[in-house]
Amino acid sequence: MKQSTVRYVSELDFREQLSGILADFKSNNYKSILFHIYSGVLDEELLLSISRRISAMFDTDQIIGSISAGEIKNGRLMDRGVLISAMMFESADICVHRFAKAAGREQELGVEICRLANSLPHCKALEFLMPGTNLHTRALFEEISRCSRDIQVFGGYAGGHSMESSEHFVFDHNGLYSDMIFMITYAGEDFHISVDKSVGWQTLGVPFSVTKADENRLYEVDGRPAVELYEKYMQIEADEHFAEETFEFPLMAELDGEELLRHTISVGEDGSLLLAGYVTEGMKIYLCYGAPAEIVKKVDARLIEVCEFCPEAILLYSCSVRKSFWEDFVNVEMIPFQQIAETAGFYTWGEVNRDRKNGNVLEYNITLMSIAMREGPAKTKTKKHVHVDDSVLKGQASLIKRLTKLVYATTTELHKAYTDLSHMNDKLKDMAEHDGLTRVLNRRTIEQEITKVFEGESDKVSSLIMLDIDYFKKINDTCGHAVGDDTLRTIAGIMCDEVKDIKGSCVGRWGGEEFMLLLPNVSGDDAFKLAEDLRRRIEQHSFESVGSVTASLGVTSFRPDPDTMSVYVKLDDALYEAKRSGRNRTVLAAP
Ligand code: GH3
Ligand code: MG
Ligand code: MG
Repeated sequence: MKQSTVRYVSELDFREQLSGILADFKSNNYKSILFHIYSGVLDEELLLSISRRISAMFDTDQIIGSISAGEIKNGRLMDRGVLISAMMFESADICVHRFAKAAGREQELGVEICRLANSLPHCKALEFLMPGTNLHTRALFEEISRCSRDIQVFGGYAGGHSMESSEHFVFDHNGLYSDMIFMITYAGEDFHISVDKSVGWQTLGVPFSVTKADENRLYEVDGRPAVELYEKYMQIEADEHFAEETFEFPLMAELDGEELLRHTISVGEDGSLLLAGYVTEGMKIYLCYGAPAEIVKKVDARLIEVCEFCPEAILLYSCSVRKSFWEDFVNVEMIPFQQIAETAGFYTWGEVNRDRKNGNVLEYNITLMSIAMREGPAKTKTKKHVHVDDSVLKGQASLIKRLTKLVYATTTELHKAYTDLSHMNDKLKDMAEHDGLTRVLNRRTIEQEITKVFEGESDKVSSLIMLDIDYFKKINDTCGHAVGDDTLRTIAGIMCDEVKDIKGSCVGRWGGEEFMLLLPNVSGDDAFKLAEDLRRRIEQHSFESVGSVTASLGVTSFRPDPDTMSVYVKLDDALYEAKRSGRNRTVLAAP
């Protein structure tokens, strides 16, 4: 296959250039031809006339056009022009499909497209070109995500240099459309394609949670109006420059491990943000920034893959935010692709890509999508890999590079400190609430839990069990303090296991060898049965170095009541009675 690109300058030049392509097409016996037109010029008549001339000359309707926010020819930005790419194929089956009046039918079309793609022999890829507004493509792509995993999916959303929806259209030789979906099927046994996106933007600081969102509108983050993210952390005010100012600091949302960048299109009066792409409630989002060094690294990684693929043609679909970000250095990340094969493409209002791992087709922002194509086996294995020449960035951009490096390094450190601190807090809280030896609740905490039940609303009966190990002093005296400690740990473990399925129950260490069990909503009789079971389990347990150990238990039940003292006294009396009457027994206090 072969790709030739033409910049429309004048009618006369154009005819000559097309004649050259036609001669090439005919003399080399190509089987089919496909035209992409990317236009930063909004002259509707001109676009129709260009498309019609191509159609007539090549006797084809394999023509699709998109309005663009910048055209990419030979790895360089060609702004506000009309770019024509002619792709000629030796054996591949290339077919343009048109889905008119697509708005409102997106899901239905997704099902239809999925069926079409799955039934097409050797279908390798689907390309989409569609208007950047008016369509709910999430429903479309959710359906298309179900198509055979061998099929790659890519594409771009059409849009000019402003938000005006009149600038978001696609076109061909039959007309201009604001709700048309163009799809191209690329098929053929000998046709090969490699598609992937490069991003490289970095997250800033800690994540926030989306608490209110609807499709592309982000209302609230952590329960606060979304605009506050930018006001508070970036000092960007919600005025008419908001979208421009936030361009370099997009949001990154996480979805199933995928990183979706979203830039802001406008800010609403209610403090909500209209994003170029959807977000959903519960997603984690981060503020992001573009760091040249990191971006270059990502593009370099993709260049290695593209080199090894040995393409004959490359399409580059890149986000208009990248163009604004790079400014004068915009070509830096595209030129190396041209060193591999002829490139053409445009700056989009959203990129479509299929995730390699999970097969999901998603809409992205701020990516550089490289679509490498080839027919037949890889011909000239490129020995020497090309990479981004970032030496030009050393001058002017080096300040940004160093500052972003500083931000990156400090946020990484901060993030680590934040994580360490929150782990430390969890640990401290745990230490403050638990007994160090037995890991059950300490006295202060179990007392708080009991007080909560005393002061509760429920008029249900709850119970307390107090357990005291029999002749524990003797264990210490004969086997040593360490064995005594082990015995305490083992008994605490048996108690926890005994109540593990009882909702709201707590085990605490009351003092030396005394434990307290709180059983909310458990009657005195049930608590007595449980205490007896516990007593028997301890009696039957074989304790290392000690052999058999027994315990005495007091049980009492109560209803919420401010007179807590009397409950503790009853419990004490019951335990004392258990000891007095011979130990290794349970006594239920009289109601
Ligand atoms: P009784 O059957 O009447 O309860 O007799 P007892 O020996 O169990 O009771 P006593 O109150 O006389 O002794 C409790 C002993 O528990 C005294 C103390 O040294 C020991 N003890 C308290 N805390 C710990 C501890 O954390 N580890 C160890 N090993 N022993 C402890
Ligand atoms: Mg005691
Ligand atoms: Mg004791």
